[in-house]
Amino acid sequence: MRIEEDVKLDYADVLFRPKRSTLSSRKDVELKRTYKFKYSNHQWSGIPLIAANMDGVGEIEVAKNLAKFEIMTCLTKQHDLKTIKRNSSVKGIHQHLILSTGTSAEDYKRLNEIMKECSFFEFICIDIANGYSDHFSKFVGSVREKYPTKTIIAGNVVTADMTQELVMNGADIVKVGIGPGSVCTTRLQTGVGYPQLSAVIECADAAHGLGAHIIADGGCTCPGDVAKAFGGGGDFVMLGGMFAGHEEGGGKKVKKNGSQLIEFYGSSSNTAITKHYGGLSDYRSSEGKKVQLKYRGKIKDTVQNILGGLRSSCTYVGAPSLKQLSKCTTFVRVNQQYNDTFGQE
Ligand code: 5GP
Repeated sequence: MRIEEDVKLDYADVLFRPKRSTLSSRKDVELKRTYKFKYSNHQWSGIPLIAANMDGVGEIEVAKNLAKFEIMTCLTKQHDLKTIKRNSSVKGIHQHLILSTGTSAEDYKRLNEIMKECSFFEFICIDIANGYSDHFSKFVGSVREKYPTKTIIAGNVVTADMTQELVMNGADIVKVGIGPGSVCTTRLQTGVGYPQLSAVIECADAAHGLGAHIIADGGCTCPGDVAKAFGGGGDFVMLGGMFAGHEEGGGKKVKKNGSQLIEFYGSSSNTAITKHYGGLSDYRSSEGKKVQLKYRGKIKDTVQNILGGLRSSCTYVGAPSLKQLSKCTTFVRVNQQYNDTFGQE
């Protein structure tokens, strides 16, 4: 047994130190980024936020609305060829869409079917809860071999060694986060995890050293956390809970005590596994939960709120663009990030 003594941080453990700035207005802050990916050589431009591949979030209706802001959506694994072909608008927004897949033979078959007929998809996200298995790295390698010009995202991991391993096996982008998610119970169920800001800082450093990129996935609860994820070196930030509960997600609405609520659940929750796979096998337990959120209306208002927060963060630290944010970032460690006397809005 070994204990690592150095402190690892979550978003709530730090704040940005404000810095002098010559920016006159937050409206001048450029949030768009352009990335060229290591293996695919594909160039992407847009605002590097991603709606997570979770039910009620990674949906085509959400994607259509986020694409207007040049924000990406990672479609859930339940989007098969039939569903995609039925939605003629998909092709028009393909540059902001990501297909996701697991690593089973059935997943691989579904991926190949879609890619054969809809070769316009540029991004493939190979997504499993625990990205540390040898089988996973090998799977990433075989997808890279089959699709040399597609941008491959692989995850999830939280350490530099495994980020490098996935990049060496063909990932252009590594997805980072184990346990920080809003409806994730992995940390309770297994005791496994890594504070998300430190995971982002360490994995970004590892990926950037090899010319690859990372996605900071999970754990953002407010626009300030999104800014901290970029400040820590995240190239993209993936949001589940912050993009959940909106009209476009199509989630089940319920009325309770006069207010309208909407269901949201983790991809490894009992609810999701029963819905998509007919129930949990007897050797595994659920690692996600179901919650009821206040219905939040149209997603565009939430997006504008997040982008407004991000522009303001950049202005406070003197970054003329999102690209400059991590260079301009000095975090201060704090014991309390927010005065909670009257709760949150
Ligand atoms: P959020 O933005 O809601 O904090 O986090 C979203 C991320 O949580 C997702 O992109 C995914 O990586 C992770 N996630 C989603 N559902 C589950 C689940 O049921 N269990 C676990 N362990 N993680 C989940």
